[in-house]
Amino acid sequence: MTPARYTGKKASLATMHGKLELISPSMSTLGLDVFPSPIDTDVFGTFTGDVARRASPFETALAKARDGMRAASTTLGLASEGSIGVQGFLPIVADVETVIFVDDDEGFVLAETAVSHHIVTHSWTLSQGLPLEADLERAGFPNHGLIVRSDRKPVDITKGIHDHKELNRVIEHCWEMGATQVTVESDLRAHHCPSRRPTIAEAARKLANRLLNSCPSCDCPGWGLVDIVRGRECAQCALPTQAKLADVFGCSRCSARETGALNTEPADPSTCERCNP
Ligand SMILES: [Zn+2]
Ligand SMILES: [Zn+2]
Repeated sequence: MTPARYTGKKASLATMHGKLELISPSMSTLGLDVFPSPIDTDVFGTFTGDVARRASPFETALAKARDGMRAASTTLGLASEGSIGVQGFLPIVADVETVIFVDDDEGFVLAETAVSHHIVTHSWTLSQGLPLEADLERAGFPNHGLIVRSDRKPVDITKGIHDHKELNRVIEHCWEMGATQVTVESDLRAHHCPSRRPTIAEAARKLANRLLNSCPSCDCPGWGLVDIVRGRECAQCALPTQAKLADVFGCSRCSARETGALNTEPADPSTCERCNP
């Protein structure tokens, strides 16, 4: 495609949490002018669980983008959604950031994700007094925001704390109100969690790069990796394994698909179901 496809066009970004400066620079390489559509994205669920998330990150990002587009009356929209938690078998917190682009002029939706294990998170419980410096350090405080939650009913919750004095005041207030336990945890919203921000920017970069590639069949922007083919032969027994044989590239609108170059190198027997059951 010619990079001029989006030159001078405007796209809304559904955000309350300071994501414009993370997403807009990549989109400006396409000539796209991104402006914030300040809808209440917290209605789609929050990390603190006071509003439950029900949909997948893709569906949530899409719903946010659509809301932002409706509010701003645009045909182009962006949104992002983070998914933070333990993945797989290792006790390491993964931050998976999804950035989505909706183009109602061309009629397609495209999302890219970036993954990081460098997110700073911590959660701990107090039964008296004030937090230890070691815990605050581990939480990246005060650079990273904290949430304080009392076990007193109705649950008393204070978010976005970045100041030692305020933190101590909020916790002391919990004790004064009769709390028996106070939970202190990372505020994972993007504007309170700087270690999420490079990952959101990386997902936006991947999305912008992909929008530069058009489908060879229908010329829609967003041609890129959609799948992989497994089945490289085992080096030991020559049976097909779970190892990747090739990438599959596809269109974000039509059914066009292309299989990339085959990797015919024999696969490590550790990926073979017969040799490593
Ligand atoms: Zn084998
Ligand atoms: Zn196509």
